[in-house]
Amino acid sequence: MVAKLKTPTIPITEIEQSAFCRTDDDLAAKSLAEEFSAGVRWQKLPVEYMRMKPQELDDRIASAREKLGDQAIILGHHYQRDEIIKFADLRGDSFMLSQYAASQKSCRYIVFCGVHFMAETASILSEDHQRVVLPNLTAGCSMADMAHIDDVMDCWDDLDYVYEESGGIIPITYMNSTAAIKALCGRNGGIVCTSSNAAATFKWALERGQRVLFLPDQHLGRNTGIKLGIRPDEMLVWNPFKPMGGHTEEELTKARVILWQGHCSVHTRFTVGQIEEARRKHPDINVVVHPECTMEVVAVADSNGSTEYIKSTIEAAPAGSKWAVGTEVSLVNRIAAENPDKLVVCLDPVVCPCSTMYRIHPAYLSWVLDGLNEGVVVNEITVADEIAAQASVALDRMLSVV
Ligand code: SF4
Repeated sequence: MVAKLKTPTIPITEIEQSAFCRTDDDLAAKSLAEEFSAGVRWQKLPVEYMRMKPQELDDRIASAREKLGDQAIILGHHYQRDEIIKFADLRGDSFMLSQYAASQKSCRYIVFCGVHFMAETASILSEDHQRVVLPNLTAGCSMADMAHIDDVMDCWDDLDYVYEESGGIIPITYMNSTAAIKALCGRNGGIVCTSSNAAATFKWALERGQRVLFLPDQHLGRNTGIKLGIRPDEMLVWNPFKPMGGHTEEELTKARVILWQGHCSVHTRFTVGQIEEARRKHPDINVVVHPECTMEVVAVADSNGSTEYIKSTIEAAPAGSKWAVGTEVSLVNRIAAENPDKLVVCLDPVVCPCSTMYRIHPAYLSWVLDGLNEGVVVNEITVADEIAAQASVALDRMLSVV
């Protein structure tokens, strides 16, 4: 086995994460030109859209959306800004939105206000006559950017070699990954998961192989392993910049779970100290966090689950209850506004939206809707047929499990 040395790189999306962090809760959109002044590197678009003021964009989007009628649906991920989410025909988590898109057989255009891997999944699940549009092509996901397909293929080859004679390994990829990685899972007996069905897919994988490779979020993988009784010392983190992920063959042979070294820049901001502070201020507060948080945070929270879980748990809670929430702030603010009879606060006192979701500024939505009305499909997301077919296998396996 030849040792591979690589240069570590930090995704630009990770570097940009703090560009829009504020110490107050004012996240209202400015003109795109003003937001560009934070030094971000977003997709360029015609200059007239850069200068439009928020109200002008609002009116323009409303009129373009009305003109498109049933030809288009607009999907809004929970983490989108309010100025975008108000135009969404449906809001939800990534898989719920893709399933909805797949059920809308008659519309021609699916405008996905989310990030790149979500639009790819919608494209895989959509019909041939449908076109999927991502308003800003630089709206990626820092976690997905931490797993490049070439590095994952190298890792897979190494693991295949090590485990050839000791029970094999099944790859599981979180929905937050590129279509190429979903395809790798599809062609190697693996499966896709979401944050709500990760435990079920782990069980499925461990019935078919002795070990699991979990991509790309080490925290969701570790928290899920712990939920199923796997000890932290039975899980190793694979560093793609070190030969054999930084481990000896003996260490790898003893492991039950290999966790890709990726994380969410938003959810790893939450700390045990923030939970202690929330409980000091409000002794009767309930702490609910997303499983992309670290295992230490998940361990001391009262409960954890997907964005849909967090949202529905708070909605169903009695009036007067108090909630400190460890997930993306745009969603936390929206849950707070929609549940005025409860106290709902973000665990992190510094307001940090997901910087890549935040890239869907209203100017981009206006631009792509105007294009569709003129018969021009701007920013179409497509997936090569072979990759789409293999990724579908992994997605279908997930649907058969849950
Ligand atoms: S919240 Fe985290 S995982 Fe979700 S899109 Fe943003 S960076 Fe990616």
